[in-house]
Amino acid sequence: MGRTDTGTKYRKRGHILSPSAWNRFETCPRQFWLSKQRLPRKTSMAAAIGTIVHASIEDIIAENLSGRNPQESGWMPGLANQVLKNRWEEEKEIFFNTPRRPDWKDSEWENARKQQMGGIELLLTKVGASGLELDAITVKLWRQVQRIVLSCEGELRSTDGKLMGRLDLLLAKFDEKGNIIGWVVADLKTGKVPTGALKPTVSRQLRFYRDLLAENNKIHPEITAEGWYTRGPMVVESKGPSVLEDAYNAWEMSQPNDIPFDAKPSNEACGFCDYKAWCPHWWNYKHSSKSPTKNIFIDAVVLLERFDIDRGAALIELCTPKDKSGGILPSGRKFGAIFEGPALESLKKVVKNGWKGALFLGSVKADKNLWRIGNWCDVLPWKPIPDSG
Ligand code: SF4
Repeated sequence: MGRTDTGTKYRKRGHILSPSAWNRFETCPRQFWLSKQRLPRKTSMAAAIGTIVHASIEDIIAENLSGRNPQESGWMPGLANQVLKNRWEEEKEIFFNTPRRPDWKDSEWENARKQQMGGIELLLTKVGASGLELDAITVKLWRQVQRIVLSCEGELRSTDGKLMGRLDLLLAKFDEKGNIIGWVVADLKTGKVPTGALKPTVSRQLRFYRDLLAENNKIHPEITAEGWYTRGPMVVESKGPSVLEDAYNAWEMSQPNDIPFDAKPSNEACGFCDYKAWCPHWWNYKHSSKSPTKNIFIDAVVLLERFDIDRGAALIELCTPKDKSGGILPSGRKFGAIFEGPALESLKKVVKNGWKGALFLGSVKADKNLWRIGNWCDVLPWKPIPDSG
């Protein structure tokens, strides 16, 4: 599908800004623009674990306990294991159908299980029952948890339809008499636990939910926004002024356009960008004096000189930028390279499709004269989209 077709589709659906899209736009407007071009999707094991943990906690919250003996215990370990297994299998299938992916790691099961337990523990904390083993959770206690959950995975939309987000959890705080005295917006995080203040992107996302909720419900109790780090488990509150005005400004500036938005290359932004194969700017930045040097894992644009398809062995030539649009200059520097797993499959596909141009290699372990293009690496045709679109 051409870029203009995609743009038309995007326009028809209407322009909606979510917190993650907003963060992408702030990080680098070009990254945001590229994310709207229907380029081949990428996933990672960390992203898959995040989805599995979220979905399994949602399932446990939604478990129908009606008609069960309130004193019954010992049921939670089996339920937690079953829903985790179901979501694990479901996500595994999606993972293998994603065009850009590393190897699936069964060894991550334990991590998913621990994070699921972290999520359960954080819920128990909210009903004053932290530190319980799973098999000590009674039906009565879990009903208490279910009672404080006002919404799970609820969609939150501004009345004008411009801003939208998916709220992991909305919880109620009660006083002793059972009156609601507060709402808690909780976003489950399966990444690293922060050691200091929340990252500005995370803080902005949490306040986005808080402020949108307040905007949509003119009469509301006090609302707090919390990041729930299931690895800790630990809760970090996000405080600060409303972000809605900034969000609407970002909505205005990020409206669909066939001309690519400005690029803001930096080590931080480009390091985690999934769209480098279509962006000439990280490459020019890397070859400019502004970029700090040297990482053993590198991104590169190369020419494929020889390729032994059975052994995954290749001879590649490093390229340097010829111009600002991503034109290439062969550098004469050649390296042996070993392609493995999904990276080898991607290269085979590129070769089979008859691609003769340069290749983008992402996160390569570039060790002396032999490059290892491991299963985690991106191997894509180098197709930089110029600033003119
Ligand atoms: S590679 Fe860097 S400059 Fe290019 S879109 Fe991504 S973040 Fe922006």
